[in-house]
Amino acid sequence: MPRIYIETFGCQMNEADSQYIADRAESAGYAIATKPEEADVLVLNTCTVRDNAERRAYGRMGHFKALKDADPRIRLVVMGCLAEQDRDRMRSAAPHVDDVFGTKELAELGDRLATWRPEIDERRADDAEYAEERALLMPLGGSADAVVDAFSHLRAFVTVQRGCSYYCTFCIVPHVRGRFDHRPASEIVEEVREKIASGAREIMLVGQTVNAWRDPADGRDFADLCETVGALDGLERLTFISPHPKDFTESAIARLARVPALNPRVHLPLQSGSDAVLRRMNRKYTRAQFEEKVDLIRRYLPSWAITTDLIVGFPGETDEDFERTFDYAATGLFANAYTFVYSIRRGTPAAHWPQVPAAVASARFTRLVDVLNAGTRAYHDRKIGTTVRCLVSGESRKDAARLASKSLDNVTVIAPKPPGYDEGVFAREPWIDVAVETAHVWGCTGTIVRRARAFADPGSPVERAPIDLVGAR
Ligand code: SF4
Repeated sequence: MPRIYIETFGCQMNEADSQYIADRAESAGYAIATKPEEADVLVLNTCTVRDNAERRAYGRMGHFKALKDADPRIRLVVMGCLAEQDRDRMRSAAPHVDDVFGTKELAELGDRLATWRPEIDERRADDAEYAEERALLMPLGGSADAVVDAFSHLRAFVTVQRGCSYYCTFCIVPHVRGRFDHRPASEIVEEVREKIASGAREIMLVGQTVNAWRDPADGRDFADLCETVGALDGLERLTFISPHPKDFTESAIARLARVPALNPRVHLPLQSGSDAVLRRMNRKYTRAQFEEKVDLIRRYLPSWAITTDLIVGFPGETDEDFERTFDYAATGLFANAYTFVYSIRRGTPAAHWPQVPAAVASARFTRLVDVLNAGTRAYHDRKIGTTVRCLVSGESRKDAARLASKSLDNVTVIAPKPPGYDEGVFAREPWIDVAVETAHVWGCTGTIVRRARAFADPGSPVERAPIDLVGAR
């Protein structure tokens, strides 16, 4: 059977696209490889949102060149935003890449997988020890980003909207993915049903500005969609990413509060605490309006975790602007935050503006991350001594003797695998109750005490490891 390896950079939109390709590949008769050395087709799903993601994607193409050099029959495919933006440049910068599929060519890639199969089957028939021998010949350097594996189906991403029409001045998304294109509710519901039937325990509705979604047929809004999806038979948990603060109204938040399947978390990208910077970013809200949304969330959804994105060193950001961001971050409001130093994105307005010196931006970044980390650590500390229900996400990347999982509020929880651990059993009974013992900035560690097939099941006890290995991750 041919094997496909899929590695994903960037946002949940890309995760959703990778899942789509994995589903199409499985329908076309491929098995999913978890190591690139074992695959006949290598797919890199790329991101351009930040310079770092772009450089890492090119770096990964460089790693994969070693596999192509050892066996030129391997097919290397690049998809995603970088493929859309750099199609021509890639031909000279990475000539060993076989095929490039932009963000609007996903279905075409799915179709092509089927056409490549006979050639792969033929050479595998000629080469009985094919994958095993090749794995020995071609140990690959570098580290992987997100990889589709045995647990991937538990969290299903369902795209509700493509593109974005908001044109923040730092963002490349509208330029590479186009303006809003909302999927009809009927299609979304159909796909959610399929994912549930395939074993999904958590459905994540994904869009660049997910709560701006409108049904193109009848204008129903995002809260309507959550109510509809949240009531589907077999749905265990529901979540969404990423909303835009501007599109949360009081009525929408009040209606979300009445959908019990929703996970208690919301990602609310602030980007900056300064009105002057928000205006230049074209974010379409002021700091006071953002705070109003936070107040509404606190009133209607008091137990929900609020997370955010912040950019430091945006062109023109003064010390005073930065202090406004810092002061807000220091309130401890955010359970977690993704903080970035502004990086120039070719083709966006902010790329042409006078830049903040790198050393200044770097010093601000360090201060901001320190204060945000203190808030995150305090949030995680509050879980010590409690037992949290989590959905398994796979083996810990740093220690194969441990399992990684996510709580409903999206905190990473790591625990030693119990005695007699069986991956298949945990893929079928993926809800675990973890007694939390220690907290860190990155998440928590603990001991698995129960395992359950469904979120609502009480679960059955899990045998504990004789030696407690919990400590440094
Ligand atoms: S809302 Fe702004 S940051 Fe988000 S995808 Fe649209 S343009 Fe980019």
